[in-house]
Amino acid sequence: QARNPGEVEFHQAVDEVFESLGPVMERHPEYVEAAVLERLCEPERQIIFRVPWTDDSGHVQINRGFRVEYNSALGPYKGGLRFHPSVYLGIVKFLGFEQIFKNALTGMPIGGGKGGSDFDPRGRSDAEVMRFCQSFMTELYRHIGEYTDVPAGDIGVGGREIGYLFGQYKRITNRYESGVLTGKGLGWGGSLVRPEATGYGTVLFANEMAKTRGGSFDGKRVIVSGSGNVAIYAMQKAQQLGAVVLACSDSDGYVVDEAGIDIELVRQIKEVERGRLKEYAERRGSAVYVAGGSVWDVDAEVALPCATQNELGEAAAVRLVNAGVKVVAEGANMPCTPEAVTVFQKAGVLFAPGKAANAGGVATSALEMQQNASRDSWTFEHTEQRLTEIMVGIHDRCAETAELYGQPGNYVLGANVAGFVKVAEAMLAQGLV
Ligand code: NDP
Repeated sequence: QARNPGEVEFHQAVDEVFESLGPVMERHPEYVEAAVLERLCEPERQIIFRVPWTDDSGHVQINRGFRVEYNSALGPYKGGLRFHPSVYLGIVKFLGFEQIFKNALTGMPIGGGKGGSDFDPRGRSDAEVMRFCQSFMTELYRHIGEYTDVPAGDIGVGGREIGYLFGQYKRITNRYESGVLTGKGLGWGGSLVRPEATGYGTVLFANEMAKTRGGSFDGKRVIVSGSGNVAIYAMQKAQQLGAVVLACSDSDGYVVDEAGIDIELVRQIKEVERGRLKEYAERRGSAVYVAGGSVWDVDAEVALPCATQNELGEAAAVRLVNAGVKVVAEGANMPCTPEAVTVFQKAGVLFAPGKAANAGGVATSALEMQQNASRDSWTFEHTEQRLTEIMVGIHDRCAETAELYGQPGNYVLGANVAGFVKVAEAMLAQGLV
């Protein structure tokens, strides 16, 4: 902590993984000798840069840009860019650290990295977002590449931003290097199922957990936090599996819709009009909007936190358990506080940590890279089939590892240990670098 003062989210993410690793280090003294844990506390490379741009009224704005190239034992650094005013080094490092193990769990050849900026896209015009993205890439381009570091989207970075970033990369380098970014548009190197992948994958993972107890999504009441990329497609897959999605949220409040959330309407408001969720209730008679409230106040059997870190604390977890929640799967990164996770685990709730449950997004990014490398594009059905196999594979790997270490059903332990061992083995083989 003394080396990284004030980086609370980073400390939290490291603690959460290291807490699982005691029995692994006992079985593998070679990891201790090679200082694998110490090395994992230090990213391979951290880049911080100025992003100057001009707003629509002609004023100069200065933001801070980040790219943390965390670990390349398994492949080129891979992980999203986040544009949100809360972004600082501690957030980027926590996300990059999580990404290492998540990417390892997918079984694909990708290392871990993350980046972003404290730029707030909310209320900005398309032209402002474009100028910001161009300035951001004017520095970032020298650090990334198909074989080096492959960014993607995250909070505040979707198809529009990836388009502007890719355009600037191409212009500066004079290379049509499709594999340098993922999350691209379908007509220019993107992959079908990439927009859906994180949300779909989260529900597929939760469904696999439910199956271990003979359960399913059919007829279940589901609540979801957020109404962005991950939330929208988690809701869609839950509905496809027969669930009733009762509620979702944004950073101002939540909506409850007893008739089931109309996903097309959420998408229209949030993705097309870039409006607020409040407008959903104004347009749909069966819905009620609660300003400033917590979506975790709604009773449900399945809860899917898909917004942001530390959005579900101990009190909300206790409330959900008392209301009969049976399955919780993290679509977002680290949305449940450690205290909330303990509440769920003690109550016997099936709990899926983000690094396992939301790995479908990065896995499908890796499928996008495969398609780019072979200059091919796969059908929706084929790509979704691959995603499903990958999620079932991650689920089984986590479940088997938890059992191997004497804690069946503990997906937190399973994910941390399985991801870690894969990375540690590669780090040992590659020597002290
Ligand atoms: P989006 O920007 O598309 O959506 C984010 C949603 O979360 C919005 O509804 C937003 O509300 C809400 N939100 C964001 N910050 C806060 C906050 N501080 N408090 C309350 N609500 C907030 O992002 P994504 O859906 O892509 O990402 C959501 C989560 O999923 C993140 O944790 C991300 O790291 C994780 N993730 C994303 C992947 C992907 O493929 N996109 C892959 C793996 C993980 P508002 O509209 O009001 O801002």
